[in-house]
Amino acid sequence: MTATRRALTGVRSLATSRIASKPTASSPSAVHARSFAASTRSVGDLELSTIKKKCRKVMCIGRNYADHIKELNNQRPNQPFFFLKPPSSILLPGEGPILQPKGVRVHYEIELGLVIGRKLLNVDANDTSTWLDAIEQYILAIDLTGRNVQDEAKKKGLPWSIAKGFDTFLPISGPVLKHRIPDPHNVELWLSVNGEVKQQDNTELMLFKIGRQLADISKVMTLEKGDIILTGTPKGVGPTVPGDVIEAGIRVGGKDIDEARMKFEVKEREGPYEFRET
Ligand code: MG
Repeated sequence: MTATRRALTGVRSLATSRIASKPTASSPSAVHARSFAASTRSVGDLELSTIKKKCRKVMCIGRNYADHIKELNNQRPNQPFFFLKPPSSILLPGEGPILQPKGVRVHYEIELGLVIGRKLLNVDANDTSTWLDAIEQYILAIDLTGRNVQDEAKKKGLPWSIAKGFDTFLPISGPVLKHRIPDPHNVELWLSVNGEVKQQDNTELMLFKIGRQLADISKVMTLEKGDIILTGTPKGVGPTVPGDVIEAGIRVGGKDIDEARMKFEVKEREGPYEFRET
């Protein structure tokens, strides 16, 4: 059995088990499972199914676009600053809706993501060939944030883990092969809610470029194959509510990159969690 065939068999059994676990074929989850199965036929999507499995950490840069810092009345950092999201928050295309926990004001933040392809430790920001070579592929990602949960954490000096870490709070696109993005600092990111464009900016506006981000992270913790880096969000972040449809994509040289197109519905999350300010 070839590697491709083995991978395809694995994806099929994942899709089948999702469908089998649902009582009705017409339930939203079953529909999502079918579209997930339907979307697993290309080589790109086969790689996609392994992104979540192989990811051991998601490192995110905060406050990396000047106009986004202003819109949230935050201070501009003197050096890159980072926080983690759990890999369990990753939501693959076709895997299901974004789930909004009760009492949580969810904000979208569109970001260019990097999937790391090999170990990286103490890399020099100016050693472009080394850090660029360590990026295996790109993804588009939405760093969903419980803004009221985060605001309370900030006020009390507590970590942001809850605000950033709910299940489904990291929807990602299919992988974008490296040759499709000749310069990661010249990529247009866009995000719309119910067809209305809310975010649209070029990654050239990043305050700290990718080399500096990878240098600063890898001085602290080793980056490993499969790790994901989110490079910060431009201006235009805002709230989303159940019933919304969020779409996003990237353009390079004015052309849409099809494999980076994302579309997710938002639904209310069931279960015991409810956010209440204390
Ligand atoms: Mg962010």
